[in-house]
Amino acid sequence: MTIENLISRFKETLENSPLDLARNWKIKHPRTKLIGCYPVYSPVELIHAAGMLPVGLIGAGNRLEIAHADSRFQSFICSIVKSTLELGLTEKLKFLDGVVFHSICDPARNLGSVFKRNFPDLMVEYIHFPQNMTSAHTIDYLVAEYKRLTTRYEELSGEKLTKEALKQSIRLYNQQRRLVRELYAIRREAPQNLSTVECYVLTRIGTLLPPEEHISILEEAIPAIRRRNEKPKDRIRVVLEGSFCEQPPIELLEGLEAAGCYILDDDFLLGWRWFPEDIAMEGDPWRNLANAYINQSVYSGVKHDTREPKSKHLIDKVKETGASAVLILAAKFCEPALFDYALYKRALEKAGIPHLCLEFEEKMWIFDKARTEVETFVESMLFD
Ligand code: SF4
Repeated sequence: MTIENLISRFKETLENSPLDLARNWKIKHPRTKLIGCYPVYSPVELIHAAGMLPVGLIGAGNRLEIAHADSRFQSFICSIVKSTLELGLTEKLKFLDGVVFHSICDPARNLGSVFKRNFPDLMVEYIHFPQNMTSAHTIDYLVAEYKRLTTRYEELSGEKLTKEALKQSIRLYNQQRRLVRELYAIRREAPQNLSTVECYVLTRIGTLLPPEEHISILEEAIPAIRRRNEKPKDRIRVVLEGSFCEQPPIELLEGLEAAGCYILDDDFLLGWRWFPEDIAMEGDPWRNLANAYINQSVYSGVKHDTREPKSKHLIDKVKETGASAVLILAAKFCEPALFDYALYKRALEKAGIPHLCLEFEEKMWIFDKARTEVETFVESMLFD
């Protein structure tokens, strides 16, 4: 099968029912326990080292009708919270043995509690990530939180989570993240050879398959993509920001490119690309995981890090990639993304970098308005 056919097959599954990949895997491996990881970041190595499979629980796409969850959450809550609850209420998460939420925002915090009350058969865990990144106790605190989680996952899997197993899992996920970084580097250097949708599909399947399978897919895909030699089109080069949790529909991504943008970098599926460098292998692996979260992870609207302003990171990213503009693509009602936008707007204007801000919902079906806005923005830059 060609790489194009492979991507198109996965794309179809992701558009119709993203969790089918993991659900089908579970049918073939009924004894393995699966843990749904709500965005943004989960220490997937802990789950894997306990003999279980971490699965990205990253919304339901735009083919699921929200019939029950609307009545449980206010109308001003983002789509992913409702679609995740809808998946649970319609018994589409029966293949999972546990779920894990984190302290990213109030809706996600509440969703964790709603899951605990409504699905007593699921192990619902909640990670309290540190809100103070500079305290002398922060790493010890996070190590303790990861050790607490370790005990819970040992109980669920019935397996001892050993130091050696955790090191092996870190090694494996380091390899997976390295390959994903390579994919992103290819698109940044020659976006005509790898579309954003292809890059997205190849990254997203890694949240739904065992890392070993994802690694072998990427090891086959990357050399094939490197052999491409497409001619660049007359498009503007942008950095996309704001989609770190709820994911935009694939059709919307296609529309952005068709409207005249090469996306050189983005923050899709950010938790699964959380570390721009490998996590250390020497020493205590729990401490290495905690240290990586505090000192090695990417900037994000859901990570409270006062050491460097997020807007500086965004401006640096624009400069490093050679982009000429920024596309803010924020989920509707996503407070972290929209709060960030207030900061980004000021910083981008000060740096003289043009930007366009669009809101999306994972359940959206009609993309004409977004596409027209992007086309107008692109024309204003190309014919300035
Ligand atoms: S999309 Fe935004 S508001 Fe909604 S759960 Fe994610 S971070 Fe929270």
